[in-house]
Amino acid sequence: MITADRKTTTTCPYCGVGCTLELHVKNDFIYKVTSPFDSPVNHGNLCVKGRFGYDYIYHPARVTTPLIRKTAQVAGQRTQAFELAEWREVSWDEALDTIADRLVELYKRDGSGAIAAYCCAKATNEDNYLLQKMFRALFRTNNIDHCTRLCHAGSVVALQQAVGSSAMSNTAAEVIHNDVFMVTGSNTTENHPIIALQMKAAVKKYGAKMIVIDPRRIELVDFAELWLPLQPGTNVPVFSAMAHTIVAENLVNHEFVAARTEGYADFIASLAKFTPEYAESISGVPAEDIRKAARLYANAKNAAIYWGMGISQLSHGTASALALIHLAFLTGHVGRPGTGLNPLRGQNNVQGASDMGAMPFHFPGYMRVDQPGNAEKWEQAWQIEAGGLNRQLGLTTTEILAHAHPGGIRALYIMGENPMMSEPNLNETRKHMQELEFLVAQDLFINESAAFADVFLPAAPFAEKEGTFTNTDRRVQRVRAAQAPRGQSRPDSQILCDLARRIELRLERPTSAGWNYSSPADIFAEMASVVPDFAGINYGRLEKTGIQYPAWDTDHPGTPTLFTDSFPRGLGKFIPLDYIPVREPVDDEYPFILTTGRVLEHWHGGTMTRHSSLDDLSPEPRVDIHPADAEIHGIAHNMPVKVSSRRGEIILRANLTEKTSVGVIFIPFHFAEAAANLLTNDALDPQALIPEFKACAVQVFSARTGETNLPDTLQRGRY
Ligand code: SF4
Repeated sequence: MITADRKTTTTCPYCGVGCTLELHVKNDFIYKVTSPFDSPVNHGNLCVKGRFGYDYIYHPARVTTPLIRKTAQVAGQRTQAFELAEWREVSWDEALDTIADRLVELYKRDGSGAIAAYCCAKATNEDNYLLQKMFRALFRTNNIDHCTRLCHAGSVVALQQAVGSSAMSNTAAEVIHNDVFMVTGSNTTENHPIIALQMKAAVKKYGAKMIVIDPRRIELVDFAELWLPLQPGTNVPVFSAMAHTIVAENLVNHEFVAARTEGYADFIASLAKFTPEYAESISGVPAEDIRKAARLYANAKNAAIYWGMGISQLSHGTASALALIHLAFLTGHVGRPGTGLNPLRGQNNVQGASDMGAMPFHFPGYMRVDQPGNAEKWEQAWQIEAGGLNRQLGLTTTEILAHAHPGGIRALYIMGENPMMSEPNLNETRKHMQELEFLVAQDLFINESAAFADVFLPAAPFAEKEGTFTNTDRRVQRVRAAQAPRGQSRPDSQILCDLARRIELRLERPTSAGWNYSSPADIFAEMASVVPDFAGINYGRLEKTGIQYPAWDTDHPGTPTLFTDSFPRGLGKFIPLDYIPVREPVDDEYPFILTTGRVLEHWHGGTMTRHSSLDDLSPEPRVDIHPADAEIHGIAHNMPVKVSSRRGEIILRANLTEKTSVGVIFIPFHFAEAAANLLTNDALDPQALIPEFKACAVQVFSARTGETNLPDTLQRGRY
């Protein structure tokens, strides 16, 4: 029996549930992870990622020394270097001076529009705050974004328009207080496993009724009262037909509508065409089931909506989320425990990175960069001359790489993101990456994106640094170091402050105390001194447990339920909608709809999980195909198949399953050897600029002779 030298309480680095972890350390080695039973988030439960997915920290391929490419890279001909032999180990001084020299040179030559940064939804609040501060304060650019653009941007824009706030309104664990709840566009069991446990408990132990609206027969369907298997991309007609039923059957909460909303009359007029029969003709969901779902939701005492990326990752993702918000407005199921509008945020700190201003339109605290008064607050906090901060909206993640050309973006700083796995239409992304003049990667491994970099900075993972993450229900929680950074690696916040001081000197800006924090607590305090939602939160208060923002002062207990009396914008706004089909419908050449997502054992581009023992549990990509489709196309279970779209092709094994619908195939996007995003469509939602990951047209063939020698052709990171 091993006895731990110490136990460090921290927060899981994977999904937005934000489970509490206890890292057991012996001889400076984390040998076990458990969770305390009194954690308010997960009550001692952990999924397989939280429990076993930490050993990437010790993987031999982890880079723990700063690196510079041996071969100088030229814009237009930039190449990938996966092997350490292609890099030169350098000192931190050489690496950081090289970056400072090059960024300043390009900034002086081409201006603030030529520089951009990707922040990181896996890094801490403090790390993200510092990176956006560095680019805003020193390079005067708002070209700052992160992967929220690729996951919930549609939800964020819709919620901002309709209620004026973009976070989950209620607490996830509150699901047990729901009488009825709707789960849509979310395979919660695999993406937010502990919330799925709570949902199942709500049904089994507390008698709640669950409505699942999803194209796939996900595990939650086994617990559902009703399953509406809609065609991918038909959310707006289905949700609007539910609204139509609520109005037609006089189930509207008129008191709530009158007191708390605006735009009702125009909205009602716009609903006329969305009869359940019309929705059935588009979505394939029987009209009577749409009516049943509407009645169940509207008649409940307390009903809530939980949604995932099946709502937002569409070229009409904003409209999809608005259609859900309308249901809550019509019925008044918002503003009380057990109700609410709950977009389940994907990554551990995607909520926090957004809160910290890691976005091109907002300073920290969602202060619009183009709204009078906001820049002034940050100029004061960051000791910048009046008028110094850029007031123009910056470029989004999807736009930054598309603008990588002479006259556009010349230098990109990537902290912990992997666009060469996470962007849509990766063959185009590759061309854009090749066009950059200078690229910095700050990460743990040389992943598909870092392989393109000029300089690699070895960062410390969650278990080797201090800070905070903010989970999906706005709970700010501590991240604590269980061991010292391995090798020469450093916490992101230390790297960024060191680099910022060097840039400041080269720019000959008056040197400030702005980069000399004594600890991450000071970084958080600087942010909280300007953003009212966090004014009452400090590290002292977070010592025992997390706090859900907003917390207005240090006596404020935090806010489990939002919108109790009003919405941040005042009245909730109904916004009339039209049905807009997916951009790439199926045809004879490409007869299947491809939808993408995650599996339980892996995480996003796989930088962490594919370097952990989780990869043994799920070592290979598979494409889910319905047996009826497989029979027509002569495809057997486990057979290698080629999946192609108008943008690319991949080879992987077939998994015959009735989990997917006829005509719809599913591929997880974690596997570089069969990267699903080589196939996906880069069509964007015009408002949120989020790509349409959830629906594109593809063909599936059994792989021809010469293409069937799996798994040898599946070489990681070499697509
Ligand atoms: S549910 Fe999410 S936060 Fe909890 S252990 Fe699993 S991955 Fe980590």
